[in-house]
Amino acid sequence: MNLYPMFANLAGRRVLVVGGGSVGERKVAALCKTGARVEVGAPRVSRRLEKCAAGGEIVHLRGHFEDAWLDGVWLVVAATGNRALNRQIAAAAEQRRLLVNVVDDAGLSSFQVPAVVDRHPLMIAISTGGAAPVLARLVRERIESLFDASLGPLATLAQRYRERIRRKFPDIGQRRGFLESLFRGKFAALVRLNQALRAEHMLKRSLRGNNIPRNRGSVVLVGAGPGDPGLLTLNGLRALNEADIVLHDRLVSAGVLDLIRRDATLIEVGKQAGGSHTSQDHIHALMLEHAQAGRRIVRLKGGDPFIFGRGGEELEYLRAHDIDFEVVPGITAAIACAAYAGIPLTHRDHAQAVAFATAHQCESSEKPDWSSLARQHQTLVIYMGVRELESAQKRLIEHGRSPQTPVAMIENGSRPEQRVICGTLGELAQLARDHALLSPGLVIVGEVAGLADRLHWYAQAPLTGTPAPSPNRRAA
Ligand code: SAH
Repeated sequence: MNLYPMFANLAGRRVLVVGGGSVGERKVAALCKTGARVEVGAPRVSRRLEKCAAGGEIVHLRGHFEDAWLDGVWLVVAATGNRALNRQIAAAAEQRRLLVNVVDDAGLSSFQVPAVVDRHPLMIAISTGGAAPVLARLVRERIESLFDASLGPLATLAQRYRERIRRKFPDIGQRRGFLESLFRGKFAALVRLNQALRAEHMLKRSLRGNNIPRNRGSVVLVGAGPGDPGLLTLNGLRALNEADIVLHDRLVSAGVLDLIRRDATLIEVGKQAGGSHTSQDHIHALMLEHAQAGRRIVRLKGGDPFIFGRGGEELEYLRAHDIDFEVVPGITAAIACAAYAGIPLTHRDHAQAVAFATAHQCESSEKPDWSSLARQHQTLVIYMGVRELESAQKRLIEHGRSPQTPVAMIENGSRPEQRVICGTLGELAQLARDHALLSPGLVIVGEVAGLADRLHWYAQAPLTGTPAPSPNRRAA
């Protein structure tokens, strides 16, 4: 069946909904939003509909369906849940050439109600022609996540300036170019950040100028999370969908890279402990080069860009070179690994504070403050610790943490190959060697680490003690 898609203007027009239960209620709510004059026919209606009728928002036709209810209406919705009655309503509507929708019955309907993504005045409607409404709803959820709520205000602004834009750019090609640069550039970013006034100033300024403004490039610093693509934020996903260039760290998982817009250019600027890496200066130069060419860059980092991610340095560089930027936080490895290992980082009985530290400093001149990291009733998470565990273990014990303190090492947290190894602080480095702990991995030190044993839920159960030898593993 080939359906003809259309959006109906029902403002001030009478629409009949037969059935006043929960389904009818939903249909009435959607119709009322359009300004339609809704009449609900049913012997009894729900509490909420009763209230609407009392408030004059709808009219309640009390009683059983009769043909006269169809007099003067434009559209009919049958939501009675009684197939025979729905059939009778559909037939009566058909005879009067009224379009009728029978809820969940494509065969009886002459029009169908699509699943809708509403960014008023922008509206996206999805239909499977009644074949699989659940599929339409799934597609809708995907689309909901792709387009944020700022599209509505964006469309409203464009609508308000439509005439002025038309006058300024009478040529359709030029007009299209102008609008595209508007919707893809800083103007759209300002609307998204709730700065509609600034966006409007910008629009006015560019309408005063003589050329189509060339889009300034920009950088979005996005936290990709620790691996599981489901942990990417909706803002992160949107940025990946709009990117021309994605500069990503090696830590970013394949699952997240799969979500990037197909025609974006991916550049790996990998940095991995011990491995070869792109220098920070080179990353800065790449961002600058592409931004100055007017491209939209996503700088995609594992976890959160501001936790041991040098995000701060990159932003300072961009600010110094007058490049626009935004930051989308990500779920940092400590939070994700703890959650996926069943370790609550704080706990009323065990830990009232959490510290994130990086073991890279352990041997450097910038010594971490071990006495504060070794505090009791505090959970300590050590990043990049796979190689430096020996020294971390020694210092923490020297500064008062008991060798019996529980620890958990989490390798490849939130990824299908995740491993959790549990033990005590006194045996930390030995355990890491015995289990050939791989990168990326981090360590959680504190009483809460002992809970993984009972609270684990993801991938394989925590390992303890010395493992059976496995020849294929390569230590980081
Ligand atoms: N910005 C990142 C951290 C970068 S430092 C974040 O917020 O997570 C890199 C270190 O993070 C790794 O050496 C490791 O200690 C930790 N890490 C990152 N992803 C991890 C993962 N999936 N599992 C375990 N540790 C991880």
